[in-house]
Amino acid sequence: MSSEKKIAVFPGSFDPITRGHESIIKRCLPLFDEIIVGIGYNSNKNYFFSQDRREHFIQQTFQGETKIKVNRYSGLTVNFCNEVGAKYILRGLRTSADFEFERAIAQMNRDLAPEIETIFVVSDPALSHISSTIVRDILLYQGNVNKFVPDAVKI
Ligand code: ADP
Repeated sequence: MSSEKKIAVFPGSFDPITRGHESIIKRCLPLFDEIIVGIGYNSNKNYFFSQDRREHFIQQTFQGETKIKVNRYSGLTVNFCNEVGAKYILRGLRTSADFEFERAIAQMNRDLAPEIETIFVVSDPALSHISSTIVRDILLYQGNVNKFVPDAVKI
């Protein structure tokens, strides 16, 4: 039996964090000693919320939960995993389109870093229609997103 700490990274943009993300993280919590929510930076993307606000929303959502950490990173997710000692990448699956997209990334990551395993968690059916993209669209037109985001996301 290894006494090594089981650390997973849940990477994403979290622009903003949604109840879908929150659910995946909470469901995976019993499986790991630590889950690091990795806010990836992609220079080709325009973000709706600043990095500071995205990070703050996640920290507030999991306030008091000592097994959850929030980190920003840029560059390859597998490099970030190695830096923080994580052997697992967590991803959520909502649809078959998610699966096709995620499969290619997971297989590429496995080629790059075979020691890191990607774990897929199938979305709660009540949350599978929620995406950060649609939440941002609703916000753009001043709609109410309270049902789709954690209470900590105060806009
Ligand atoms: P990215 O910018 O990499 O697409 P996101 O922040 O949109 O990242 O999402 C991060 C992860 O959360 C992805 O694995 C995505 O499939 C998953 N996810 C997003 N929304 C949901 C949801 N409603 N239910 C389950 N998983 C979700």
